Amino acid sequence: MSFQNPVFIPGPTNMPEDLRRACDMPTLDHRSPLFGEILHPALEGVAKVVGTKKGEVFVFPATGTAGWEVALTNTLSPGDKVLATRNGMFSHRWIDMCERHGLDVTVIRREWGEGIDAAAVEEALRADPAIKAVLATHNETATGVVSDIAAVRRAMDAAGSDALLFVDGVSSIASMPFHFDDWGVDVAITGSQKGFMLPPGLAITVFSAKAADAVEGAGLPRTFLDIRDMRKGYAAGGFPYTPPVGLLNGLNLSCRRLLDEGMKGVWARHHHIAEGVRAAVEAWGLELCAVSPELYSDTVSAIRTPEGFDANRLVAHAATRYGVAFGTGLGEVAGKVFRIGHLGSLTEPMALAGIATAEMAMRDLGLEVESGSGTAAAEEVYRGAGAPMAMAAE
Ligand SMILES: *Cc1c(COP(=O)(O)O)cnc(C)c1O
Repeated sequence: MSFQNPVFIPGPTNMPEDLRRACDMPTLDHRSPLFGEILHPALEGVAKVVGTKKGEVFVFPATGTAGWEVALTNTLSPGDKVLATRNGMFSHRWIDMCERHGLDVTVIRREWGEGIDAAAVEEALRADPAIKAVLATHNETATGVVSDIAAVRRAMDAAGSDALLFVDGVSSIASMPFHFDDWGVDVAITGSQKGFMLPPGLAITVFSAKAADAVEGAGLPRTFLDIRDMRKGYAAGGFPYTPPVGLLNGLNLSCRRLLDEGMKGVWARHHHIAEGVRAAVEAWGLELCAVSPELYSDTVSAIRTPEGFDANRLVAHAATRYGVAFGTGLGEVAGKVFRIGHLGSLTEPMALAGIATAEMAMRDLGLEVESGSGTAAAEEVYRGAGAPMAMAAE
């Protein structure tokens, strides 16, 4: 790859220069009041970005994967029953983590490319009222599928379930609509390197009061990831250990940028960029992994390549020949799809460059794609809507 080019992987995402600089901090005594002036606005910013007035934000020096562990270990005990849908690599890995923690997981299996089936969630909860938590991957990054979290909550309520709702929003939060309070989410999880446009290194979690209360009875072991220590640290204006000050400074600025643009604007921008990519895919005569339009993700498109063609070759070729990074297929769809990540700091011209590169790479490798077809289709989308791209342009 080349540092001259934007990346088109679904995280880590392109970093705006001001956010990158914000992370580059001189040494700061994290026990001085100055640290609190960075930390507290960052936590308040995250709450606004996810749409909560009541939720409590906990940020750990880790990544999204640790965010899953924060949710599980602070609320559950070994042997507890949880319900999860598996429809891609990330939901699969979260289930694997539950099993390794000795949780009793009921898995609803969906084809890769399908979303969460709320009716199946309701049925499973009715069948087993002892289920303590429902795990939902909002945006399955492996397949480019967004699931309806409000529908999952309705299913839980319809079943009369008292379970907690954990939502992996790693590749949706700060890019696609997310309503923590309105959807009745109990723990939301994300990381710094996707919608927040920062380097990797922060596990960002949000707890409802119900989830936070569960910590007292939760028997799974945790120390570094204990939200009670974190809460005590925050109350004193600090961390229970040495915080990643630069990343938190970046998070503070990132939230400010997102909120200045307005979350509706951020979501509309991602939708607009994604529509251009989808128009290109259609013009190429290819299909998305996501099986129907309501499942199309506005942050990542997983694109099926023709039968017999190894999609990984395309990703490798784009990287070596053009210095551009696309996402490979993961797990069950390895070699069958390549992914264009379109979240974070991206403009229409940047997206066009990615579409053009994918087009060149496909033609180089002998796929029957008409020259300029994808870019022409995307251009029409980008010219048409007239959505202002001011923020992403810095
Ligand atoms: C990226 C991603 C993760 C993993 O996050 P890390 O920060 O790499 O640990 C988990 N879930 C989803 C949906 C993701 O996109």
